[in-house]
Amino acid sequence: MTAEIISGKELAQEKRLEMKNQVESLKEKGIIPGLAVILVGEDPASQSYVRAKQKACKETGIHSELDEVSPSITEAELLAKIEKLNKAEHIHGILVQLPIPDHISEKKVIEAIHPDKDVDGFHPINIGRMMTGQESFLPCTPFGIVEMIKSKNIGIEGKHVVIVGRSNIVGKPVGQLLLNENATVTYCHSRTKNMAEFTRSADILVVAVGKPHFIDKDDVKEGAVVIDVGVNRNDEGKLIGDVVFDQVKEVASYITPVPGGVGPMTITMLLHNTVLSANRNLK
Ligand code: NAP
Repeated sequence: MTAEIISGKELAQEKRLEMKNQVESLKEKGIIPGLAVILVGEDPASQSYVRAKQKACKETGIHSELDEVSPSITEAELLAKIEKLNKAEHIHGILVQLPIPDHISEKKVIEAIHPDKDVDGFHPINIGRMMTGQESFLPCTPFGIVEMIKSKNIGIEGKHVVIVGRSNIVGKPVGQLLLNENATVTYCHSRTKNMAEFTRSADILVVAVGKPHFIDKDDVKEGAVVIDVGVNRNDEGKLIGDVVFDQVKEVASYITPVPGGVGPMTITMLLHNTVLSANRNLK
């Protein structure tokens, strides 16, 4: 079996085109969706993520503004900036690019963003709403993963989903979203014993570990759907995932590539949440 590739890049393009039309119609009603991004420090990976988000906003017609601040900013100064954006009428979404320096509490920063502008979906209120199946901003990477699975009409209900990784931004919420879709969900993590026994029983396997080539064909059941969230650089500086793509594509029914898989969908769902937030202003 050679797997069909779920191209996040292509799906993201389709969705961004739809969004561009939504932004146009919002503009006709006098609302320009606005996203504010705060970047603390000069981490090259964060700079590149932020640039990609700015570019995507521009392409879709979303107003975006970037505040690049010194890593020596105090916690109080950063919280004051967030408070100002909470009150800014032209801003519908606020994002503080993580990670932030150790002297600033990530928890305080996440909780300072008003839940109605929390387009990253990290605020405990939005997480609680997601867990209880209420309307909320869904965290972008997990939301993008679910959209990718649905784009191929792959049934989720009743499937055994195995998630490798339990971070607050990827592993835990993607499991919750798939549980909301009536999957049976198993989480694996660094303390899991005999992990391959779990991964080999997965109908849908989501890998979010951050270790290059962590999952190979022996870890995957014939016909499984494999979603590779990992972003790693190999010795040649090339981006690679957590899954040995060339091997696993011969076993899986569907697989996501790296690059061009989950990454572009993460940004697209950020745009989606920003447009959704702007739409709420119509009410
Ligand atoms: P993270 O916070 O470092 O979490 C990694 C998870 O992997 C943890 O839950 C950890 O378990 C688990 N793990 C580590 N070693 C393991 C092992 N040997 N066996 C089983 N589980 C193990 O990472 P993250 O933020 O979730 O990100 C994961 C990857 O996805 C990274 O490569 C990141 O760059 C990528 N990512 C991509 C996107 C995108 O848009 N494409 C977005 C976000 C993240 P413990 O909890 O027990 O420590």
